[in-house]
Amino acid sequence: MAKTKILATIGPASADKVEGLVKVGLDGIRFNMSHIPPEKYDFTFNLIKDIRAVNPDLFLVGDLQGPKIRLGDFPPLQIKPNDEIKIVPALQLSQGEIPIQLETLYQYVEPGHILLVDDGNASLEVKSISNKTITCIVQYGEVLNARKGVNVPDVSIPVDYLSKNDALHLRFMAGANFDYVSASYSRNREDILKVKEMLEGTGIKVIGKPENREGISNLDDIINEADAMMVPRGDLGMEIGVVNVPVYQKIMINKCRAAGKPVITATQMLESMMRCKEPKRAEVSDIFNAVLDGTDAVMLSGETSIGNYPIEAVDMMNKIIERAEGYLFSNEAPGNEKGDFYANPEMPADSISKAVYGIASTPHIKAILVPTSTGYTARMISRFRINKPIIAVTYDPKVKTQLNAVWGVIPLLTERLDEKYILDSCIKLAREKGHIGRGDRILITGGSKMHGKGTNLLRIEDVE
Ligand code: PEP
Repeated sequence: MAKTKILATIGPASADKVEGLVKVGLDGIRFNMSHIPPEKYDFTFNLIKDIRAVNPDLFLVGDLQGPKIRLGDFPPLQIKPNDEIKIVPALQLSQGEIPIQLETLYQYVEPGHILLVDDGNASLEVKSISNKTITCIVQYGEVLNARKGVNVPDVSIPVDYLSKNDALHLRFMAGANFDYVSASYSRNREDILKVKEMLEGTGIKVIGKPENREGISNLDDIINEADAMMVPRGDLGMEIGVVNVPVYQKIMINKCRAAGKPVITATQMLESMMRCKEPKRAEVSDIFNAVLDGTDAVMLSGETSIGNYPIEAVDMMNKIIERAEGYLFSNEAPGNEKGDFYANPEMPADSISKAVYGIASTPHIKAILVPTSTGYTARMISRFRINKPIIAVTYDPKVKTQLNAVWGVIPLLTERLDEKYILDSCIKLAREKGHIGRGDRILITGGSKMHGKGTNLLRIEDVE
């Protein structure tokens, strides 16, 4: 049985399929309260009763909207680049315009600001603001749908943490006996405390969900105060830049593991399975790697709430988790500890490269210089993923280009030299290319004879 848990968002695609979802490995259900207005409370309450009847062990998460900005209700609008779009407070909506739930948004944006809609599926540039209307030009995107999220990464918008709607949702969730409430857009410890206060006496645990720069800058406080955490990769990507998301995924998982608090990795894990039965290979690797990172749970959103294949998505997620855990706990996983790379212990290159790893990991070594005829020594050193440049100097143009594919290696080409000049000329070349400079302490390793003998040299040198 899989150890990493699966949390799936319920919606029209899955409300009547809970039994099937449980059979393929579902552990918990998330209700996205942004899509559950008070008039749907009765329906939702009965749905929860049915779910508990199918499986009382499923953990139920209610995800608050918090200060997340969303579009209002309107029919789907097809868009294309350069279209002009008018965003207006819901009450003054006319045909063809787009309502926004945060009626005061026009006070905070300026021409040139970017509005990212639906986790960045559409981008709108603000052109002008007048009469509470924000006129935008579509940069890219195909369709705008009701209640999709809007990120304005250029602006910090000062709004209260809990809206009247959130307060209603919290009361509903307390009455419906949820297990967790997720505090969307938690910006600091106080936001978590506000949710905790509202839930006092219910036993419901609070999930911290930092989704913007402010939340990330208060990450430790949020983790300390919350009972669990979510890595909300969708909004986080919009707010802090997508390349920072994996960084914070790892940081949050590590911190939560250290604190013994459950952490859920969320969003776009099997996005392509909304329309297709076969996932993208990158999605499979993403879930596999989240398991290796040590996440407690992985989450599905649109895949199970409105996708075409909710059961298949949970089934696929479960299979990927089982495969990843099988890999993790079997001999199949190569020793990840750096010292375990003894492929061929009788080869001097193995011992020497391990010694290089030990010495070069200390701060005083600036770079590793490797005269090499075949590239072998450079590759052996690269295995250790040392955070120092590995400058490989070879006379073989093919070896040089091939070494370009090797982690951390900076290959340089030299002419074939007499043995006694090799080291000096490699240092000179590396200096000329700007990789090392006077006074740098470097580690030199390789074959003392560059021309085809094995690795047998290890030397520390101060560049003159
Ligand atoms: C996210 O942004 O990744 C997320 C989980 O939040 P939501 O689905 O509530 O927008």
